[in-house]
Amino acid sequence: MTEENQGHRLTKKLYIKTYGCQMNVYDSARMADVLAPLGYAPAAAPEDADMVILNTCHIREKAAEKVFSELGRLRPLQARKNGQGGRMILAVAGCVAQAEGAEIVARAPYVDIVLGPQTYHRLPEMVAQAARAGGHVLDTDFPAEAKFDFLPEAAAPQGVSAFLSVQEGCDKFCTFCVVPYTRGAEFSRPAAAIIAEARRLVAQGAREITLLGQNVNAYRGAAPDGAGGWGLGRLIRALAEIEGLLRLRYTTSHPRDVDDALVAAHRDVPTLMPFLHLPVQSGSDRVLAAMNRRHKADDYRRVIDRLRGARVDIAFSSDFIVGFPGESDADFAATLDLAREIGYAQAFSFKYSPRPGTPAALMPQQVPEAVKAERLAALQALLAEQQRQFNAAAVGREMPVLFEKRGRHQHQLVGRSPYLQAVHAAAPERLIGALVPVRLVRAEANSLAGEMLLSEEVPA
Ligand code: SAM
Ligand code: SF4
Repeated sequence: MTEENQGHRLTKKLYIKTYGCQMNVYDSARMADVLAPLGYAPAAAPEDADMVILNTCHIREKAAEKVFSELGRLRPLQARKNGQGGRMILAVAGCVAQAEGAEIVARAPYVDIVLGPQTYHRLPEMVAQAARAGGHVLDTDFPAEAKFDFLPEAAAPQGVSAFLSVQEGCDKFCTFCVVPYTRGAEFSRPAAAIIAEARRLVAQGAREITLLGQNVNAYRGAAPDGAGGWGLGRLIRALAEIEGLLRLRYTTSHPRDVDDALVAAHRDVPTLMPFLHLPVQSGSDRVLAAMNRRHKADDYRRVIDRLRGARVDIAFSSDFIVGFPGESDADFAATLDLAREIGYAQAFSFKYSPRPGTPAALMPQQVPEAVKAERLAALQALLAEQQRQFNAAAVGREMPVLFEKRGRHQHQLVGRSPYLQAVHAAAPERLIGALVPVRLVRAEANSLAGEMLLSEEVPA
């Protein structure tokens, strides 16, 4: 048998570099699954790989430039491999591929495949085509078939804490955001497919599942009995019944889509963690309107109140953008006020960065860089202090910790509190995957130190 016709039984090395959000981490795992039957096994480095995929993110500034410089680094590796009689297939996937596919083909002609987020299920076909033709394959369609229907079941176990994509795309069109253009229209997977995937994840050892979607609480998937649609609250109730599943989370939510059923799920479902990432972006109504967020600051406050009413111990994180076009000192002060009032456990904040093709990029009154930097520093100081206080307040308390892996020190495990705080404690390895009561004894820079409250023998 020649090497050629042994085909997929040969193990080939696949290196995937993932940029950006959890959605991309999830998609990278699915691409690895799709390529496994072709004989591709994950490799830790691009050197000598048979296929390299850059799974890109378009949210941040200069995203495309970063991809081009990474491609520049990969090019000599590809040339070396190809020169030695091998072949390195180079692919660019994700949102930069979607937005700038033609540019990639033009500027980096050595790239073999450019594919958008909606076409991962066609990857094996594209690999075969690239291997045959040696030309470029550009596939950035939004095909009518849903990619989820064509992707194989998740193959590689994700570990104790797993991600499950329930919804993709976004119809909101916030004026700063590329997601509606790169990820396409909102699409929700049928509830039955999600429940089946969750069961598989739990059978593979997952104890916590985070439901993913660009706009996850806009979820409206076909009900298992075909009668109507389920919202996220209903889906969460069904998933909470899976035996062995100890924790549920979901991200990222939009304040407008927090409906009563979701609030009630926070009240009634103990496995739904009392920690929610609910981006507000700005505290100024004027800026929120210019961002097309479709809610006012007070609407956001009311959503927070409803959730706190349902679950007193709930804590929040958020995303903020400072220096949106036209943002005045007074607008920014309103953002600081709102952040002070809500009190976040944790939050992300960004300087507004114009994304080509989005309406805000063309708005007059772009805010000077120095002003953006100053505002970002002020907001981040406030948010960092809130996070410090939140962690300090946890010290002395007892919390269930889900241990996920070994820690840096011997006989130490690392896990997460209900609030996603990293907690380390002396604990035996067999408790990986267990929910264990832990007393938090010290707040450190990026984690909390804890002591297990079970009477366990931990080797010295
Ligand atoms: N769907 C989510 C939402 O509605 O908030 C998050 C989408 S985005 C992947 C994550 C965050 O990146 C946003 O919440 C926003 O704060 C930030 N972001 C998106 N576009 C941006 C831009 N052009 N400039 C600065 N930050 C941006
Ligand atoms: Fe982007 Fe989120 Fe707005 Fe959708 S809701 S356009 S993903 S920021």
